[in-house]
Amino acid sequence: MSNFYITEPAKQIPVVYEADVCVIGGSATGVFAAVRAARLGARVVLVERQNCFGGVATSGLVNIWHTYLDTSGTKQVIAGLSEEITDRIEPLNDGYRDHAGSHCFNPHELKIELDRLLNENGVKYYLHTFYAGLMTDGSKITAVFIENKDGRGAIKANFFIDATGDGDLARDLGMESYVHPNIQPPSACFLMQGAFRDIDYQGLIRRHGEEFGLEPDWGWGGPVPRCKDISMRAETHIFGLRCDRADDLTKAEVEGRRKMRALVEMLNKYGKPGEFYNIVSACSVIGVRETVHYKTLWQATEQSLLLGERYPDAIMNGTYNVDVHLAGAGITFRQFDGSYDTENADGSHVRGNWREEMGIQTDEIPTYYQLPFRCIVPEKWENFIAAGRMIHADVGAFGALRVMVNLNQIGEAAGVAAYVALDQNKTVQQLDGVDVAKTLSRGGSANLG
Ligand SMILES: Cc1cc2nc3c(=O)[nH]c(=O)nc-3n(C[C@H](O)[C@H](O)[C@H](O)COP(=O)(O)OP(=O)(O)OC[C@H]3O[C@@H](n4cnc5c(N)ncnc54)[C@H](O)[C@@H]3O)c2cc1C
Repeated sequence: MSNFYITEPAKQIPVVYEADVCVIGGSATGVFAAVRAARLGARVVLVERQNCFGGVATSGLVNIWHTYLDTSGTKQVIAGLSEEITDRIEPLNDGYRDHAGSHCFNPHELKIELDRLLNENGVKYYLHTFYAGLMTDGSKITAVFIENKDGRGAIKANFFIDATGDGDLARDLGMESYVHPNIQPPSACFLMQGAFRDIDYQGLIRRHGEEFGLEPDWGWGGPVPRCKDISMRAETHIFGLRCDRADDLTKAEVEGRRKMRALVEMLNKYGKPGEFYNIVSACSVIGVRETVHYKTLWQATEQSLLLGERYPDAIMNGTYNVDVHLAGAGITFRQFDGSYDTENADGSHVRGNWREEMGIQTDEIPTYYQLPFRCIVPEKWENFIAAGRMIHADVGAFGALRVMVNLNQIGEAAGVAAYVALDQNKTVQQLDGVDVAKTLSRGGSANLG
């Protein structure tokens, strides 16, 4: 960025909307925040820069929400709007689930269901609209600025939720932030046509990737229900870039598309003989796993999750294991029972048991983890919550919390908290987290039992 500045002339900005709650960013996190606040009676507006809602799940084509059951596979611990939406989509999939009970969907169907959900709940929304700044008074936000085809406008509201992933509002508020070393890399996903069964994709990348300019990658993807021989592919990790920065984001998009073609070319040469592989749909925006984290009143830690700590103000139940994509390709999983497995780029594994190594004796292995409300309460800003992957979490906790069934619940909690704060005329810091958790539960959110 240049060191030179110019002063933009001051101008009058039209107030285009006034609301109780304004949500910026329309992934399922933001949509669910908006819908939960609207269902409680708030007037809600939602702003999204893409042409659809759903974020990484739609624009990024990542079409898997993990199971709603605990790790015993017997008790449902996640419900709420995630379940409501998959209940609506799954009839279109013939009720398809993958081997682990994860909900795989056609991302384009999810777009349509999220539109319907917002319409049914009377949320005012703007697509193709960028959040571009905010105005504060003391420790409150009074308005945000947006940019779209109408030019620049302002939205006034009493409460603001930042669901931008990167935490664009938190950044502009000057909240304390940090970046993990070796942040999890972005991937540009695509839908690929071509039969895949019996292909050792990972092995192919290891053996032939270099010929196509591909680094070792561990190969990951999944089916698109009812779309024969079409799979979602995500083997395009792009390392060493920070996608909350304009130049890096631009480079990542271009590099991601280059890798998509390289993978398809590799498969056409070395894949199943006689089979043709094609890109049928490229993500409209690169999938960003991680950028910046913003400090709140409480930091989630890997230990607090994997040891299954319980909280009276729990706003989320989660079961997804710690999953850290490593710099330079490779992946580590850590589970409740202590087992861990690091798969290196060359296919070798390091396995062990972290409970034994740390001398942690446990009579009962937890089957799900929780997150307390204070994890989303900012230190200073009174009418603001950031919900999403900007969460205050250490490396391992982030590796678990970052999946969508978790962030969906955090979005719901943010929407409920916004409503309760306005209803009780309290700052977010003054809210009783137990109250928020109860209201959240009553709306059918996480089954917090
Ligand atoms: C390749 C990949 C594979 C993954 N695999 C899985 C998986 O299998 N299952 C799973 O559950 N999770 C998976 N994850 C993780 C998960 O998808 C993300 O952590 C999650 O989507 C983040 O949600 P979010 O709401 O914080 O952010 P996002 O989904 O990034 O949503 C942010 C939203 O805000 C909008 N926005 C941003 N800035 C602005 C602005 N200035 N103005 C207006 N709108 C704005 C964006 O357009 C977007 O819609 C994967 C992630 C990636 C990248």
